[in-house]
Amino acid sequence: MDYIIEPPKTPSVAIDGSDARFPVRRIFCVGRNYEAHAREMGGNPNREPPFFFTKPADAVVDSELTIPFPPETANLHYEAELVVAIGKGGFRIGEADAADHIFGYAVGNDLTRRDLQFVAREAGRPWDWGKAFDRSAPCAPIHAISDTGEMTAGEIKLAVNGETKQRSDLSLLIWNVREITSILSRSMELKPGDLIYTGTPEGVGPIEVGDTIVASIAGLTDLVTHIGEPV
Ligand code: MN
Repeated sequence: MDYIIEPPKTPSVAIDGSDARFPVRRIFCVGRNYEAHAREMGGNPNREPPFFFTKPADAVVDSELTIPFPPETANLHYEAELVVAIGKGGFRIGEADAADHIFGYAVGNDLTRRDLQFVAREAGRPWDWGKAFDRSAPCAPIHAISDTGEMTAGEIKLAVNGETKQRSDLSLLIWNVREITSILSRSMELKPGDLIYTGTPEGVGPIEVGDTIVASIAGLTDLVTHIGEPV
């Protein structure tokens, strides 16, 4: 079939120990999934149902790259997160079966134009302009669940220019990966290639031109991101 313009390339993420890449279909993100972060954002977490937002698939950026400081913001924030890569689709996945649908895990950074997010929040508008901008979803290489086993605990941390800013543990997720996968799949049929950014712990803060951000999770490859001059 001919297209009237050149069709977009499939966005993808690196896979640890492989030259093959993971094609990205959609990016789902969980809001406020660590208690201390929910509190720092002005929420009161009592295991209210998790809520989701999305980013475009082509917002993914490989590790070790420089991202130009994004436009229209004076308050760009990092958010270290465990990313779940869905390898097998499903609708209304049961918690007991959730791990069967996971291809693997990676370290992600849910970059946020916090000022635009807050403007939207106060006005009751969608979060997209704060969350779903170009290059807003850096993601380190994915480790297959066959290598890591199911990840339910382990240190998650983030440093800016070598200074630790976030430090928590995956065991402190309010909604764990099985629950998130199951709950999300009730609203959307999950498909192979979907990524789920599972939420960030407390300690979010601003980043500037020239900063280097290193996000890590025990057992996974670090995510290194450099912030360059705006384009
Ligand atoms: Mn987040």
